[in-house]
Amino acid sequence: MPRILAGFTMRDMHRLLMVIAVLTAFAPQQVPRTGDPVKRGYTDADFPRVQKLAEHVYSYEQLRSAGSEKFTTVSLFVVTTEGVLVADGQGSMEETQRMVGEIARVTRHPITHIVIGSDHGDHTAGNAAFPSTAKAFAHPTSKAILEGPSGVAPQPITAVQDKMTLTMGGIEIQILFLGRAHTGGDLSVYLPKEKILFMSEAYLNRIFPAMRSAYPSEWVATIEKAQELDATTYVPGHGFVESPAILKEELEMARKALLQVIAEAKRLHAAGISVEEAVKQAKFGDLDAWTIRSSQAATAIRRVYLELDGKLR
Ligand SMILES: [Zn+2]
Repeated sequence: MPRILAGFTMRDMHRLLMVIAVLTAFAPQQVPRTGDPVKRGYTDADFPRVQKLAEHVYSYEQLRSAGSEKFTTVSLFVVTTEGVLVADGQGSMEETQRMVGEIARVTRHPITHIVIGSDHGDHTAGNAAFPSTAKAFAHPTSKAILEGPSGVAPQPITAVQDKMTLTMGGIEIQILFLGRAHTGGDLSVYLPKEKILFMSEAYLNRIFPAMRSAYPSEWVATIEKAQELDATTYVPGHGFVESPAILKEELEMARKALLQVIAEAKRLHAAGISVEEAVKQAKFGDLDAWTIRSSQAATAIRRVYLELDGKLR
């Protein structure tokens, strides 16, 4: 027996196990970086989930299904003595009604302001569940879509071209257009004092870059503009609302994911490969594990090809 173990008793063994137990308990918890609730250890019963991000500021996450995959759609709400501002609705009347009910559990103040960060249906289709007296805000691009023949605009929409600052109950809330990203009318909600930036669909946390109506290279620039803001908590429009540190890291991952998809499409484009062939040949490496990769990869390649061909205005 080696000398160091001589005299090692059961009592010493017990002490050693205690030390290991304590070290394990205080070790940083590894959060699986994923948009998949199963891999993240969640069940349907964990949602909808409301998290308090700062005094008066909450995120709301509800699961939605896309084929066999599930992921969250995220809204933000700010509670003030002059009313509640909600950034983004959910995807149906039923789901937005559910969120309105959850907000009513947090505050008795009415919903008075709605910011449309994304004009897509999974964030607007339930907006009629918000009070008809509320004021809605959208970028002119989104306003035109929502007020068009197939749009949803239950509340009157005020256009926000670049920036609008609201002060509600003493809380400063900025509505910002940081550039075209996922829809072209992408708006963010920035709370400068709380250092929170809700990015809507300009930030997809571990969700494969969905580019159906995106502006690929401008999306990267939009994220870089967001990264330059004085914010500590970046809130995505899809994917889990994690700790501020993780959300900051994942925003950078989302930026790199866009660059990776763009680089792959560029490589195939430069090799003279047709878009139909490129869709089949494209390789995404680590992004293969990202949620909705199977349904979004081809769309993304097609969209980057359009940009490379100068067909995105
Ligand atoms: Zn969406």
